[in-house]
Amino acid sequence: MQKHQLLIDGKWLDAEDGGTIPVINPNNGLEHGALARGNSRDIDKAVAAANKAFFGSWGKMAALEKGRLIYRLGELILKNEDELSHIEANDVGKPLTQSRNDVKALARYCEFYAGAVDKTHGETIPYQEGYTVLTLREPHGVTAHIIPWNYPMQIIGRSVIGSLTAGNCVVIKPGEDASLTTLFFGKLALEAGFPAGTINIVTGYGLEAGAPLSAHSGINHISFTGSNQVGTLIQKAAADNTVPVTLELGGKSPQLIFADADLDAALPFVVNAAIQNAGQTCSAGSRVLVESQIYDTFSQMLAKRFAELTVGPAEADYSTGPLINPSQLARVNDFLAQTNDLKILARGTIVDDAPQGGYYTVPVLFGEVPPSHVLAQEEIFGPVLSLIRFSGEEEAITIANGTNYGLVASVWTTDGARQLRVARALQSGQVFINNYGAGGGVELPFGGVKGSGYGREKGLEALKSFSNLKTIAIHHG
Ligand code: NAD
Repeated sequence: MQKHQLLIDGKWLDAEDGGTIPVINPNNGLEHGALARGNSRDIDKAVAAANKAFFGSWGKMAALEKGRLIYRLGELILKNEDELSHIEANDVGKPLTQSRNDVKALARYCEFYAGAVDKTHGETIPYQEGYTVLTLREPHGVTAHIIPWNYPMQIIGRSVIGSLTAGNCVVIKPGEDASLTTLFFGKLALEAGFPAGTINIVTGYGLEAGAPLSAHSGINHISFTGSNQVGTLIQKAAADNTVPVTLELGGKSPQLIFADADLDAALPFVVNAAIQNAGQTCSAGSRVLVESQIYDTFSQMLAKRFAELTVGPAEADYSTGPLINPSQLARVNDFLAQTNDLKILARGTIVDDAPQGGYYTVPVLFGEVPPSHVLAQEEIFGPVLSLIRFSGEEEAITIANGTNYGLVASVWTTDGARQLRVARALQSGQVFINNYGAGGGVELPFGGVKGSGYGREKGLEALKSFSNLKTIAIHHG
């Protein structure tokens, strides 16, 4: 069984105390490796290595060279697409096509940001006679990246590559349930030629490795993607050291279908937004709000599609794979146990060749869900879709805005004025009109409002979060 190590200062190391964490394949529940179980002593070493690189090799490297390294890393990621996607399919349980998309997205982040390293700069400001005033965009120093298990490669792309582009060195704490592609990414970064200490990876549990990283006095920014509960702890830790945070938390994203929408065009987007990665997606479109006149027609179209969905091992590329672990399966079952008052319109099927020990659950479509129902309010993180009926634009907006979250929303209508009116009224970090997710949108700033977090990653906007602006005013007379 393969034993995986920590990446600290360009070297692969066991955890200081020799501890390990089993690696479980969610497709069959079998152990197939061990991660190093990092703790605060490993975090100390990783933060020290990142600081050394920041004030040394990486910090002193020309922007042009940094950009070339990031680009080279993207090329290596694409070259290793096959291996990375199979690793992800067996670590996260993500169907192979979706795993491949994540690899391509990670490479695309490298391509996008590589060209931005030497174009991220300050300005001059007209001030008063006798002064020249200029701004510099400077890196924070060392940034911490605490990431979840559901989209390791995409989240590394948007947070780690964005941070390196802004000139920082990084310490990554991947999710304990899915760290393998992050470690492979570290291997490729060394192969690309990143100086020792620029990228450090400490695997381990949240309390043992994540908490000491977020509380460390040697880090200067935290990018956290994960649950709201842990997000609150991260903010408290950051407050103690006055460190800025980018928080990418949960969601309960609405998809609004108006009576004039192109229903055939909407259908595949609506289904995919709900069931991608078995619904374990922060931006899952898990509430579908349908205007009364077309409610029956669209719910029948959705029910037909849901009944065709298949669930099975990720390598065989069914509609969805398993959930990540037994506690996620129990969480989804807990929600389903609270739905006796609701009507199930359709369910998918678990295929016969799904291994017994895997954490499989079928996609379920519920109809006429009251907006205040727990299913329509809470993030389930499973393939469960709630249909909600509305009458008119005003009610649609009220229901859409009526949760604690505000990450992503979509609006399906052919009325141009309504597209803009509703998009502006929605409390959401991103709004998609007649599409969902814009195919990944590496270039498009992403992040939440309300309980979904704050700060933006992706696009050039991310580079603002990953840097500070310094103002220099020169009085020369
Ligand atoms: P989680 O909050 O349990 O864990 C996220 C990371 O935090 C893991 O690496 C974990 O080890 C670490 N962690 C746990 N306790 C910690 C502590 N006390 N201090 C520091 N670090 C700690 O989340 P999860 O279950 O891995 O992921 C699911 C959640 O992530 C969902 O709520 C989902 O919506 C959210 N998510 C959000 C986005 C987004 O972009 N908004 C993307 C993906 C996932």
